[in-house]
Amino acid sequence: MKIITHSKPCVGTAEIHRIRKVISSGRISSGKEAAAFESEMAEFMGLKTATAVSSGTAGLCLAMQVLGIKENDEVIIPSLVCTAVLNAVLFLRAKPVLADSAEECNISAIDVRKRITKRTKAIIVPHLFGQPADMKSLCALGIPIIEDCAQTIGAECQGKMAGQWGEMSVCSFYATKILTTGEGGMVLSNNKKYNEKIRSIIDYDEKIRFSAGFNFKMTDFQAAMGRSQLKKLPNFISRRRYIAKRYNDALAEKSILLPLPPEDRGHIYFRYVVSNVKNTAKKMEAFQKLGISVRKPVFKPLHMYLGMEGFPQAGKIWETSLSLPIYPSLSDNDVERVKNTALKIL
Ligand SMILES: *Cc1c(COP(=O)(O)O)cnc(C)c1O
Repeated sequence: MKIITHSKPCVGTAEIHRIRKVISSGRISSGKEAAAFESEMAEFMGLKTATAVSSGTAGLCLAMQVLGIKENDEVIIPSLVCTAVLNAVLFLRAKPVLADSAEECNISAIDVRKRITKRTKAIIVPHLFGQPADMKSLCALGIPIIEDCAQTIGAECQGKMAGQWGEMSVCSFYATKILTTGEGGMVLSNNKKYNEKIRSIIDYDEKIRFSAGFNFKMTDFQAAMGRSQLKKLPNFISRRRYIAKRYNDALAEKSILLPLPPEDRGHIYFRYVVSNVKNTAKKMEAFQKLGISVRKPVFKPLHMYLGMEGFPQAGKIWETSLSLPIYPSLSDNDVERVKNTALKIL
């Protein structure tokens, strides 16, 4: 039986050709390719500047650093997100303040408002699973926002695009993200000053005056791979939407919640997450027995890692949701198999 994995990078010969060219050129650290990737990404995201970095986590750290976040400053993050976001806040020795989710999975503006104090310096807003958060309500809170676009590039959001609302936006190019460079990330912004500061932190060598920095750069062969991935992004997104539609149509009669975005937002289906599902552990096992890898969309909410209570919506989403395989390289046959198995099990 062929196993259908939960996620998979979509890399082809175009990437290999470009990487080979860069490596043959002998210029393999961060240079021209990284600069070109930055301007192409900025153009795609509709933002003025971008800086390529070594990971999404590094990007979040740099974004917080240039916002001036220091020890004991409070940064609000959702409980329902991967540990990378918590790690970034802790790396700066800032204080993570968790917030609950809205019903649509992303951080709840209503809950964030309750958690704002005099020491709140920023909110990190991940757009989870390919669906943008409620940026209008979150921006109305008046706290600087870092958008975490690790899972959502190219989705419409309340008249703009996800990534165009906050002070800065951070992407991740980890192996199985929407675009990949193996490992990698980017910080984008409309404020050139932020990016100049980030550049001065990561480009610290041979300066007249010393100022503390750190190496968070992306190599040129990674950037070459990223440029080739970015060319494919429109096709990636339409393939993801096509697969999601197949699943949505098939599962419409089921008494579960399908991942349909609110009217004012789009969805690029980085993940296909169904919720209000009973006995998720048993169902994951049943999928596994039939050769299909189905996961929890978030391994464990942060409040559970930290032994905290008071995040009912995040807890409920975690309890009752499952993420089905969805990626551009999933063949029509495999889509059919996932769909039919889901019809049987869910
Ligand atoms: C993947 C991811 C990150 C971290 O990105 P890395 O490149 O793995 O460091 C941060 N936030 C979210 C929402 C992610 O999905």
